[in-house]
Amino acid sequence: MTTAVIVRVIVVVLGALLALGRGNRDKPSGQLQAPSEGAAPRSLPPAAGKAKRDEGPASTPAQQAATVRAKPTPPPPRPTPADVAEPAKASPPPPPASVRAKKDVAGLRKGLALARGGFIAKLSALFQGKKEIDPAILEQVEEVMLSSDVGPKTTKAILARLRDSLAKNELRDSDAVWDALRAEAQRILSVGDSAKSGPLRATAKPTVVLMVGVNGVGKTTTIGKLATRYHAAGKKVMLGAGDTFRGLHTKLPLMDEIKKVRKTIAKALDGAPHETLLVLDATTGQNALQQAIQFKEALDLTGVVLTKLDGTAKGGIVLGVCDELGIPVRYVGLGERAEDLREFHADEFVEALFGRGEDDVVAA
Ligand code: GDP
Repeated sequence: MTTAVIVRVIVVVLGALLALGRGNRDKPSGQLQAPSEGAAPRSLPPAAGKAKRDEGPASTPAQQAATVRAKPTPPPPRPTPADVAEPAKASPPPPPASVRAKKDVAGLRKGLALARGGFIAKLSALFQGKKEIDPAILEQVEEVMLSSDVGPKTTKAILARLRDSLAKNELRDSDAVWDALRAEAQRILSVGDSAKSGPLRATAKPTVVLMVGVNGVGKTTTIGKLATRYHAAGKKVMLGAGDTFRGLHTKLPLMDEIKKVRKTIAKALDGAPHETLLVLDATTGQNALQQAIQFKEALDLTGVVLTKLDGTAKGGIVLGVCDELGIPVRYVGLGERAEDLREFHADEFVEALFGRGEDDVVAA
């Protein structure tokens, strides 16, 4: 499996040549900046009905090597502060931050509907109608986590902490366990220092982003989404190069090739690549984790883009990746449209997964 993973490596370089670099001009317009506000509701989502089955990994044909040169665009007019705050002049004023934050969580929740109906609903079903918490429940929690792609190492660590809390009488009822699970998720997903978490900053001029991942995970789609975003923000975007390395039975040292690509970029521009993002397909579960481990050994990854989270009822892989790699998820893909690429903020994500939503109207 390992070899199969490596031999289908694709490397695509996205060079974002920034035309402007003033103030928060670097923040693409239309981004969904939605830090969650206030305390999240502390209630269990209800057990949903039967979860849909996961779709298998996308199977696109291997892509041909391609070099894309974007037509140089004329520099956009210099923005005024008002432009930055309100990119679409004709549109009505944006809603207050608190409303935006709620909307974003709701949108994220919608995109995560399968995972909420699967992984999260299975977890919450364990506690329905239970007042007392006993160690047997934690065994069931463990089973749900393992079957939802959280991964053995991360599951073990979370369970050890829960058992410890239970032994200290800190988990008296189901709400307390749910809170503890939420806190664990928040802790794990908050990995990374603030400079290298959240959306790309693109403060260097030019900023070079190296996107890597195996075939079919969603690199091209993600690059298109990012490019759309930066272009809309008035930046010049150049898609530098794309290449596919394929295995032959000669067992090419493909990870060496990828290192070479990185080295060549660094030689061409000091400090580049400024970001190296690994794209992983959430529907491939533990396979994605194995890929991530190998890429991490070869490259200094600065973040992960987890695609196709809309297509999995498991979704626990997000915890496994952050915990085992110590690398932050920077974006998640929740569909194929440009706007389906969401910035990743741990608190928003945890609220969307574990919090109560309108979709919780229940199965009484
Ligand atoms: P690449 O080989 O890594 O460049 O992968 P592609 O970008 O060609 O994507 C492979 C398939 O996954 C395509 O059919 C994409 O439309 C699809 N895809 C990519 N990202 C997402 C996502 O977030 N959600 C869904 N549902 N499909 C996605």
